[in-house]
Amino acid sequence: MTTLPASSCEPALAAGPAIWLVSGSERNLPRVLSLDAYGRIVDWITWREAAHLYARDAVAWTLGDPCFILRGGINRITGQQSRLDLHPIVAARGHARASAAPPSPALNNAALFARDTHLCLYCGQEFSRYQLTRDHVVPRSQGGRDIWENVVTACLSCNTRKGGRTPAQAHMPLLAVPYRPSWVEHLILSNRNILADQMDFLRSHLPRRPRRAILQ
Ligand SMILES: [Zn+2]
Repeated sequence: MTTLPASSCEPALAAGPAIWLVSGSERNLPRVLSLDAYGRIVDWITWREAAHLYARDAVAWTLGDPCFILRGGINRITGQQSRLDLHPIVAARGHARASAAPPSPALNNAALFARDTHLCLYCGQEFSRYQLTRDHVVPRSQGGRDIWENVVTACLSCNTRKGGRTPAQAHMPLLAVPYRPSWVEHLILSNRNILADQMDFLRSHLPRRPRRAILQ
């Protein structure tokens, strides 16, 4: 099976030409946004997982122009090659999300650094992920919990300097208030190769609140 790029899909975030080939690494291929049959956002899935939904006739409806054309074997009788057009957003039958409330994004360092756009929230400088750490605003030694609302991205130097103290105790004010990302924000932050149709759809589902309150 080979995949040909469709000209109608442009990457929303990635720089460079919209050329996606299955040969070689698949890691940079755009993913498909999956919804349940009620239109609730579920998660990103690979184009292979999306192809399985089509093959099982489990696709309820789709949004956006096709972004992949999958070509399969030649039919011996008709002589025609099988073809499957994959859409960027796919709602699956019998794929209802477990609850009506959106899931809460898991807290891990990659997601945390993405939330804080790889900035140290103490000195304000940008670092690579290997130079960043997870800082507990209220230190765990003082009862602080390991939750989104109590963790920020910090460079190693600032984290070391702060030590087991709160920002007030260390005289190191935070540049922004830590918060728990919504599921939609998490999906945007966790995918660097979002197609334009997908980004439009996700943006229309963002919570209507400022992403972050900057402390004065
Ligand atoms: Zn710093």
